[in-house]
Order: sequence, then C-alpha cells, then structure tokens
Amino acid sequence: MQHFSIWSLLRNAMSYHEGWQRQWRDAQPQSEYDAVVVGGGGHGLATAYYLAKEHGMRRIAVVEKGWLGGGNTGRNTTIVRSNYLWDEATALYEKSMKLWEGLSQDINYNVMFSQRGVMNLGHTLQDMRDIERRVTANRYNGVDAEVLSPAQIKEMLPFINLNTRYPVLGASYQPRAGVARHDAVAWGFARAADALGVDIIQNCEVKAIRRENGTVVGIETVKGFIKTPKVAVVAAGHSSQIAQMADIRLPLESHPLQALVSEALKPIFPTVVMSNAIHAYISQSDKGDLVIGAGIDAYTGFGQRGSFPIIEHTLQAIVELFPLFSRVRMNRQWGGIVDVSPDACPIIGLTPVKGLYINCGWGTGGFKATPGSGWVMAHTVAQDRPHEINAPFSLDRFASGHLIDEHGAAAVAH
Ligand SMILES: Cc1cc2nc3c(=O)[nH]c(=O)nc-3n(C[C@H](O)[C@H](O)[C@H](O)COP(=O)(O)OP(=O)(O)OC[C@H]3O[C@@H](n4cnc5c(N)ncnc54)[C@H](O)[C@@H]3O)c2cc1C
Repeated sequence: MQHFSIWSLLRNAMSYHEGWQRQWRDAQPQSEYDAVVVGGGGHGLATAYYLAKEHGMRRIAVVEKGWLGGGNTGRNTTIVRSNYLWDEATALYEKSMKLWEGLSQDINYNVMFSQRGVMNLGHTLQDMRDIERRVTANRYNGVDAEVLSPAQIKEMLPFINLNTRYPVLGASYQPRAGVARHDAVAWGFARAADALGVDIIQNCEVKAIRRENGTVVGIETVKGFIKTPKVAVVAAGHSSQIAQMADIRLPLESHPLQALVSEALKPIFPTVVMSNAIHAYISQSDKGDLVIGAGIDAYTGFGQRGSFPIIEHTLQAIVELFPLFSRVRMNRQWGGIVDVSPDACPIIGLTPVKGLYINCGWGTGGFKATPGSGWVMAHTVAQDRPHEINAPFSLDRFASGHLIDEHGAAAVAH
C-alpha cells in the first residue's frame, strides 16, 4: 500500500499527481475463502480489516451488492458520540470512540474525525431529568459528559432561539463527540483491508446461503458460488432478508430515514445539536453545508427515499430553533434504510446456524460505532464466540428478556 504522508504528497506533486496507485484492487471472487463478509458498508469493511489485522486471517472476502459505502454508510449524517445510558451500550460505543481517536493514523487515511462536541437539547422538566440521569451514568462509566445551562448553550450558539414552542431548558454535552467523513471511513477501511490481502468484490449480490447439516458451507452470489465455513452478515437495512436465506427471522423492522444538506455557508455552526422533542439535528460539514437529519418514516420498506411530511416537520423544527437559517436553500435530500430493533440496540453475534454470524439492528445510530462494531465482530467471527463487549448484544436477548433499552435515553437515537 502506498503510504500517505506529507512526503508522498510532495513527491506526487512533482509528477502532477499521476503516480498515485489505485486505493484497492478490483477483486473477482475466488472459489473458496476462510471467511466472507456480506456487506461493503463501513461495518463490513471494518470487520474484514480487523479480521486480517487483529486475528491474522488472510483469505477473506467482502461481497457487496452495489458499490462500497453506497448503503447507510454513505447516507448518514456522521454524528459520533458515546454518551449512551446503559453500561453495555456505553462500553460498546466508548470502545468505538477510542478507536475513532486513533483511526486516521491506524489506517493511514484521513477520516476527518472532528471532535467538535455534541449537544442533546432538553425541552421539558422530564427531558432535563433524563439528561441529568444519563450524564451521571456517563461519568460513572468514565465517559466525558456535562449538563449545560441555557446561558452556556447561548454562549456556544449565540443565534439559537431558546424561547421556542418547546423552550430550551438545557442540554447534555459530550466534548469528545463530533463528526467524521463517512465516505472516507468506507474507503479508508477498504484500502487498509485490501493492503492486508482482503478481496473486496463489488456488484456481487448474495442470493442464498448454502448449508449442510445446520452448518454454513458457502454463499450463492450473482458471480457464482463461494465456498466458506464462515459468513458474517453485516447488511444493515437488508439484514432480515439475508437472515431469511438461512431461515432465521430477525426481530428487525426496516424503515426509511432521511437527511438533507443545504448550500455551502461560511463556518457558523461550531458543534452538533440534536433535539428529540422537536425531532431534528444539525451540524455543518467541513465543506460548509448544513447537514440536517430527521426521525424515521413510520412505515416499513426497502425504498431508499422517504416522505415529504418528515422533511417538512424537520425543517420547521430547525427554523424554529435557528430562525436565521429560514432563507438558506436546501441542496439535496436522500434516504437510507435503517434496521430498527425493539430495544434500539444492535444484534452482534452468533446465530442458530453454525458458521453464520450477524451484525445488524444499528437502526438510526450505527455510524458512530463503525470501528468498534468491526472490532468486536472480527473477534466473534475469528474466535467463534462473542467478545465480552458484544456478549450482551446477542440475538437470544429477545428470548431471555435481557434487553438493553436505549429508546429515547439519548435524545434522537443517532
Ligand atoms: C439518513 C441517515 C442518517 C444517519 N445518521 C447517523 C448519524 O448521524 N450517526 C450515526 O451513528 N448513525 C447514523 N445513521 C445510521 C448509520 O448510517 C448506520 O447504522 C451505519 O452506517 C450502518 O453501517 P453498515 O456498514 O452496517 O451498513 P451499510 O452502509 O448500509 O452497509 C450494508 C451494505 O450491505 C449491502 N447489501 C445488502 N444486501 C446485500 C446482499 N444481498 N448482498 C451483498 N451486499 C448486500 C448494501 O448494499 C450495503 O452497502 C444514519 C442513517 C441514515 C440512513
């Protein structure tokens, strides 16, 4: 792999940047692998990378039905934080946060991780009680968290309107939280995994999972059969469809989730603001666009778009909080398909089929977990047992009742 550094930049500048290598090979499937990851989003690529890096596996493929990062990874609003309520969730997201903090160096790719803080607004007394409870829980778990007063919010965002229909009474704030560049995360993991020998195969949809005596023996794809004893399904909104190929019914609903960006503005928005009560969140990208996200559309489906009332509702909320944005033009809107689980927590682990592993149920908030999710998934696949961090996130918690209820515990669940 060509190393990125100031020196390689200078060297390539001398030759008009014509000497850069391809970031990853355009691999075609081999007949057999030790493990195959289904889904070339951030989580799948991170899984493959850590399988190769941490567990020394080499004959690994990632099969992606479209293009890398074309699913939710390339469609999300890039908020990264770890201030969840329950110990289990905090451990998982904080593992991820620590990996984010060294990720650009680790994979030698600038993922533009910007720790500009995330604010979750409280609009009612109950919101504020929940915020205080969560901040206290975060601190017990060693996660940076504080409660901000309206005056402190105003100091950071002088143009916020605190006296809205739902007045702003305070906020939780995690200073280490922030945003990252989503495409770069997919490309960086792909490049680093490729350098360790992982075959990344695009336009390769999985059509069936072949089993013998309850054990995985391979997958049928549009590019033919691939023999493998280990299949890791990391397919976000399409996880339930793929699990169905092995006769597994997952407790997931797939919903559209929308976002939109404005025209580019000069730097004005120094942090990330989220509000559950009015259901909107906003940040500003390094390019200058306002990045705005909504809640899920209530209906289920697999179309990567959503309905107009949701966008209208979201923009009403943003304009009410930030009236100075009322005349900003919106440039683009899109939707992804998120896989929502009953307790708003992911499912990461083994399945009743030997050799079949799942990583799904991240719903509206999995981007922030990308490195940590890949790290624990790689451990699970390589060792054939979950790591202690993802053990509580097993599929059988929906039978045992050991749910980890993060619904509403952390404002908008992104
Ligand atoms: C609008 C929006 C805003 C969001 N905002 C945030 C946020 O601010 N912060 C946050 O933490 N999270 C956010 N999320 C959630 C986050 O994007 C996801 O949880 C995360 O990106 C999931 O990553 P992934 O790699 O698992 O999934 P994906 O990136 O969706 O990757 C799954 C891949 O599997 C592939 N696939 C599906 N079926 C098959 C098949 N049969 N064969 C082969 N490949 C297949 C798909 O093509 C896809 O590329 C948001 C999501 C959306 C849609």
